[in-house]
Amino acid sequence: MEATEDRSRLWLVQTPQAFRAELLQETLRRARSEGWQATDEASLVERMGGEVRLVMGERHNLKVTTPEDLRLVRGWLAGGEPAWRVGQGLDVHRLVEGRPLILAGVRIPFSRGLEGHSDADVVAHAVMDALLSAVGLGDIGQHFPDHDPAYAGADSLALLGRVVEMLAARGWRPAQVSVTCLAQAPRLAPYREQMRANLARVLGLEAEAVNLAATTSEGLGFTGRGEGMAAWATAVVKADS
Ligand code: MG
Repeated sequence: MEATEDRSRLWLVQTPQAFRAELLQETLRRARSEGWQATDEASLVERMGGEVRLVMGERHNLKVTTPEDLRLVRGWLAGGEPAWRVGQGLDVHRLVEGRPLILAGVRIPFSRGLEGHSDADVVAHAVMDALLSAVGLGDIGQHFPDHDPAYAGADSLALLGRVVEMLAARGWRPAQVSVTCLAQAPRLAPYREQMRANLARVLGLEAEAVNLAATTSEGLGFTGRGEGMAAWATAVVKADS
């Protein structure tokens, strides 16, 4: 007979079902010996005269029986992973005589330059640290140690490219980067667009997704006294889909 059930009296039953072990063992012995037909253990226990109680469940308690169930659960778990992450980076370098000043890969005319093992590009370093931070990979000191001769005088934009590759290998890519450079002098505004374009190219981003702000510290502190420069960066990275 085909008929429409009254759903107000129906329950969707999930697993696991729980029983006292002795009762379940006795029930299964009897069901086997007497050839009882049933779709679950609860209905067999009811047939034994047992009382079945309902406990409210939740739909996230998915039962995995078929390969299709497994695909469903995997899709649900993947959907639960964050698709975006945020990282921050900070770098400081001392200003000294006899060094070129290189910021975001741009060689800027100035009487002094930043001191460091690599080209001391404080902007590129802050961006690298922000990207590494976003994916939990530590900092540039761990990956490009300043005692390693391989990085003496290194082009920091090339190292930034290496960081982008490290992210890609883990399923992440840069989505947006924002940098603030703190320097008393020189004025960075004339070089801002070139610096921004350099970062965008290496990050694989449109220039609009990269912001570069520059500020002085009004003569205060080590940057104000012209002893060094600092840069802060925030990076948003996106999971590859
Ligand atoms: Mg540095």
